[in-house]
Amino acid sequence: MKALIFIETKEGAPIGASLELVTAAKALGAEADLVKVAEKEGVLKEDAVVGAVAKKAAEGYDVVLLAATPLGKLTTARIAARLGAGSVNDAIAVACEDGKLKVTRPIYGGTIREELCVDAPAAVISIRGGSYEAPESVPEIAELAPEAEEGLVARVLELLAEAGEAVNLEDAKVIVTGGRGMGSEENYKLCEELADVLGGVVGATRPVIENGWISRTHQVGQSGKIVAPDLYIACGVSGATQHVSGMSGSKYIIAINKDEEAPIFSVADLGIVGDVKQVLPILIEEFKKIKA
Ligand SMILES: Cc1cc2nc3c(=O)[nH]c(=O)nc-3n(C[C@H](O)[C@H](O)[C@H](O)COP(=O)(O)OP(=O)(O)OC[C@H]3O[C@@H](n4cnc5c(N)ncnc54)[C@H](O)[C@@H]3O)c2cc1C
Repeated sequence: MKALIFIETKEGAPIGASLELVTAAKALGAEADLVKVAEKEGVLKEDAVVGAVAKKAAEGYDVVLLAATPLGKLTTARIAARLGAGSVNDAIAVACEDGKLKVTRPIYGGTIREELCVDAPAAVISIRGGSYEAPESVPEIAELAPEAEEGLVARVLELLAEAGEAVNLEDAKVIVTGGRGMGSEENYKLCEELADVLGGVVGATRPVIENGWISRTHQVGQSGKIVAPDLYIACGVSGATQHVSGMSGSKYIIAINKDEEAPIFSVADLGIVGDVKQVLPILIEEFKKIKA
């Protein structure tokens, strides 16, 4: 089996979720070629990636792998359509059984996992970050020229920076998320303090964003970011499916909630029943002592 891996970059460097695809290709027993796509002024990034990756994949690859980032999810089906290939977005595992490509992905907000068998000559699959370990060394990445397609309807006139600070939740190893149960913007700062002590970043549930306690770039969940850190600490978070679907891939989950029946405890590895205003200051002090 031959795999083509599209490596997405951020400020010139490959993102973690793309590098993990090397391990996914190994799970398929596939030989993999890694490619990135050069940017071209005026050409929409998605169009450049679709054109260039589809052209390269037509050279005879059985499977094309992309990270399930917004760019990956936007381009997966378009590349598949150009190749006449099968397409699966947001997978968490791939396998090759009896010569057939099997793909697992979460559906219904992560409450169910479905297994699909791709019955097509080739497949284009986006895989969620955190589903595989990144390899220890980065293989060579070839750069493809952007291939804007004919009949292009979108043209970039100007790029505007996203309002709010840039935060890389997708590649973070530690995330401390505050939910509505933090009670106020002032209390939410306890999450920032704990994240600082642990060398992590802060996440938030949707109500926290709606309350204006922090910018939208921090939202985790179905309409926010999909994350898979080594450690996820959920503070005053109920565990609604729309939130859990964005963080259930985390390797170790600690939940702090005053309601022992809160659904977040069903996905947590460690649960603390208590008031965040009392528990967080203790955790911050204890972690500071350990670090000292
Ligand atoms: C289409 C759609 C998309 C959505 N996308 C997202 C998304 O991307 N991300 C997201 O997060 N949500 C999303 N939501 C909203 C989601 O359904 C929930 O409403 C939201 O996740 C709940 O946030 P929460 O846990 O902070 O608040 P709540 O559900 O209100 O939970 C607060 C929790 O804090 C606990 N608590 C209260 N006080 C304390 C205290 N002092 N100490 C400890 N615990 C305390 C309570 O027991 C409770 O469990 C979406 C909803 C829809 C319909």
